[in-house]
Amino acid sequence: TGAFLQAMEAARGLNAYVLETPEQALAMAKASDERLAKGQGGPLEGLPLGIKDLYATKGVRTTACSNILGNFVPGYESTVTSQLWRDGAVMLGKLNNDEFAMGSSNETSAFGPVKSPWRREGSNAALVPGGSSGGSSAAVAARLCLGATATDTGGSIRQPAAFTGTVGIKPTYGRCSRWGIVAFASSLDQAGPIARTVRDNAILLRSMAGHDPKDTTSVDMPVPDYEAAVGRSIKGMKIGIPKEYRVDGMPAEIEALWHKGAEWLRAAGAEIVEVSLPHTKYALPAYYIVAPAEASSNLARYDGVRYGVRVPGKDIVEMYEKTRAAGFGKEVRRRVMIGTYVLSAGYYDAYYVKAQKIRTLIKRDFEQVYAQGVHAILTPATPSAAFGVGEKGGADPVEMYLNDVFTVTVNMAGLPGIAVPAGMSSDGLPLGLQLIGRPFDEETLFSAGEVIE
Ligand code: GLN
Repeated sequence: TGAFLQAMEAARGLNAYVLETPEQALAMAKASDERLAKGQGGPLEGLPLGIKDLYATKGVRTTACSNILGNFVPGYESTVTSQLWRDGAVMLGKLNNDEFAMGSSNETSAFGPVKSPWRREGSNAALVPGGSSGGSSAAVAARLCLGATATDTGGSIRQPAAFTGTVGIKPTYGRCSRWGIVAFASSLDQAGPIARTVRDNAILLRSMAGHDPKDTTSVDMPVPDYEAAVGRSIKGMKIGIPKEYRVDGMPAEIEALWHKGAEWLRAAGAEIVEVSLPHTKYALPAYYIVAPAEASSNLARYDGVRYGVRVPGKDIVEMYEKTRAAGFGKEVRRRVMIGTYVLSAGYYDAYYVKAQKIRTLIKRDFEQVYAQGVHAILTPATPSAAFGVGEKGGADPVEMYLNDVFTVTVNMAGLPGIAVPAGMSSDGLPLGLQLIGRPFDEETLFSAGEVIE
């Protein structure tokens, strides 16, 4: 723990942590040592972790990296983090993220952008660590923690993992409790880990997962020993390659990596089959209706009364307006406006209802593929390697949204997906592949993911 705290101090320039909690960390580490000395160690005993600032941590400032939460200090602990502490993990601090987890580059944070520890060969320009869990991916890649919690609504675990050469899994919707995690789009949000290896992901997910009566969408199913799935043979498994993911303009090196990944799985005994997910091209536009719609509703609670910041006004309406105008950043305001628009009486059927229908079709596409005996689906994790800080999304937000083209389908269908580092770009940056699984079959992702890793 001490060594990690020193490394964090030396790497403050990355802006991965928005709050360091050295006193708690040392106290937790000491308690951990005492349990170990008595032979009472838990499965994560003494492991130092970073926590995305979307997770409520009791007595420790939690802001979702938004000014509107100001210096909010929750009086409660999220279910997922309390399970990590139950199993012996140590909290090093709170990690940066895009404001309310809206973004793909960690540039919308009220605390400023996170810098990836990676650089392009021959260049010193700062690169993004991906988003929204950019603090988590940068901290793991720079060894500023052994593992980190993250959340994924449309790709925010898998895309930052792919950009930083780390591993991240978004479990099946319902696998982890969302209780105590700041809500973005409740029907899409899931908690999950980012860590250096597939095995570390398996170990962390086992502690994070499980039924929670406080989240009615969490599922009452036993949590398997995920670590036991790492190294398990994939002989005879059917892995699908969806032809619709061969999008226009895909860089040749991404396509080549995808082929290589399929070859590695074949060499390990899997059968590779081409599959079709015909509604893929509608997933991104539908996601950018569903997610803002839910966000506009979830963010209605930040009214200057209940949490954080309040800017006074002459009456209550003006107070609301001033508080929300001052407290929310540009991207969050954009999402609230889009969401309110697509839910408005006049446009509800044209946008929101249509997007929900598309969501059903996307889900059915996957069901049909799995009904053919396919165990998992292999795709690239992202359409490119990491880009530069300030390079994308300035004038055109859609340029940033396109980053999620391979990841949002998984959230729309509620399926598990893992991103695993698989190779390097020609300019020396990590590239990742994604495996998509059947509902509640994270184990196959760990087995097949380890083959690619
Ligand atoms: N980049 C996507 C968005 O901005 C996904 C974010 C996420 O998964 N939290 O909505």
